[in-house]
Amino acid sequence: MNIETSLVEKLVKKVMEEMNSIDQVNNFDEYGIFNTMDEAIEAAYIAQRQYLKCSISDRERYIKAIRNVILKEENLERLSRVTVEETEMGVYEHKYIKNKLAAEKTPGTEDLVTEAMAGDDGLTLVELSPFGVIGSITPTTNPTETIISNSIGMLAAGNSVVFSPHPKSKKVSIDIITMMNKALKDEGAPANLITMVGEPSIENTNILMNHPKISMIVATGGPGIVKMAMSTGKKAIGAGAGNPPVVVDETANIEKAAKDIIDGCSFDNNIPCIAEKEVIAVDSITDYLIFNMKKSGAYEIKDKEIVDKLTKIVLDENENLNKDLVGKSAKYILKQINIEVDEDIKVIIAETDKDHPWVRHELMMPVLPIVRAKDVDEAIDIAIEAEQGNRHTAIMHSNNVEKLTKMAKLIQTTIFVKNGPSYAGIGVGGEGYTTFTIAGPTGEGLTSAKSFARKRRCVLVGGFHIK
Ligand code: NAD
Repeated sequence: MNIETSLVEKLVKKVMEEMNSIDQVNNFDEYGIFNTMDEAIEAAYIAQRQYLKCSISDRERYIKAIRNVILKEENLERLSRVTVEETEMGVYEHKYIKNKLAAEKTPGTEDLVTEAMAGDDGLTLVELSPFGVIGSITPTTNPTETIISNSIGMLAAGNSVVFSPHPKSKKVSIDIITMMNKALKDEGAPANLITMVGEPSIENTNILMNHPKISMIVATGGPGIVKMAMSTGKKAIGAGAGNPPVVVDETANIEKAAKDIIDGCSFDNNIPCIAEKEVIAVDSITDYLIFNMKKSGAYEIKDKEIVDKLTKIVLDENENLNKDLVGKSAKYILKQINIEVDEDIKVIIAETDKDHPWVRHELMMPVLPIVRAKDVDEAIDIAIEAEQGNRHTAIMHSNNVEKLTKMAKLIQTTIFVKNGPSYAGIGVGGEGYTTFTIAGPTGEGLTSAKSFARKRRCVLVGGFHIK
């Protein structure tokens, strides 16, 4: 075979792969993808009016269709692969786990529990009723997982949804929304329960947030978009940034803590908002913790000059994050400063002080600072400061119930994981359902169908109680 032939073969393979990923994109407006935001909203509005006529068991059938289509092996694989290719962030195997998790463990209509008050004056029900059309803004870091979880939860509560994905995850968002709408159509659901525009942009997100037919905004992303969503005057759920600290004290199982921290920190190359972002360890066990972290795949930088060199490429002089390194592997990041390591190196660690930029910034890459504290109380104080009031996620490794309780109470995070990797907090190896919209700022916590529903009172006067 000459060079030209192999080159042509490579090109054809690449084009075929591209077509495979986007072959479902062409049917704009048949499967929920529209040219303008107004059209996407109008279509979702009509769909929601039709959806009101569907029964709860219809809703469940539609949700099952969504779960099934995502869980098809070829779809899970393609979504996970295309996300890594398009966003240039994260790890295929971890995207796969997250997509599967979202399809399997997001609650459906069973989440909508009716309250009842019965007495001499009759029976009053408090029902969880749809908002209408929800505008859901999704991040680059979990593009498909957020669309899966939010679609299931929002449809379970009787809403339709217009998504506004990050432009950098356009292709995979179109792919998944088209796929879900096809599955819904096959099941006989109203068309356009889930829509988006073919060209997501900041302008389109602004149209979405301010459109009169959008009754609720759900913003999953950084602090900027959460603030914007909360100032629209509409009901808003804000799922914002985190900077999760991990405290390790002298009572912890240090070998296990070290492995859990490396596993959690390196998951999807650290882009999950819940992933370990800084470690605060009690001085007496810090050396042993670092020794064990290195056994689990950490690369330690001891030379302050090299730490400084890395800091300069991670953050610019104004301490803005270098987006090109977000979600990249430890091996890739080290290569940028001419350090070659094997694939089994998963996290870069270095001891820093508590005010170091690595501690203060949500880096979203496997670069993990370790801060020494003289005792567990000081470690908790440092962790609270590092979390910066995000109220997002914190982790603690300890066997001292009193100190675990103290940290959980004081840090006030939505998720508090004890003696496990951070992802246990969203149902991977920990009990409980999953979501990829964790609403700290607005307080819904780990969102599910009931977060996307309005409470409405229905009163029957003078009868129907049997107490
Ligand atoms: P991002 O804030 O850059 O983007 C999020 C979404 O908001 C995107 O769709 C983007 O297009 C939109 N957006 C951003 N700025 C906008 C503007 N000025 N006008 C209109 N739209 C705008 O975040 P990202 O990099 O995609 O995701 C990472 C961030 O999201 C991290 O801070 C992470 O902690 C956070 N996050 C939080 C949760 C959670 O559940 N709390 C989940 C995932 C990600």
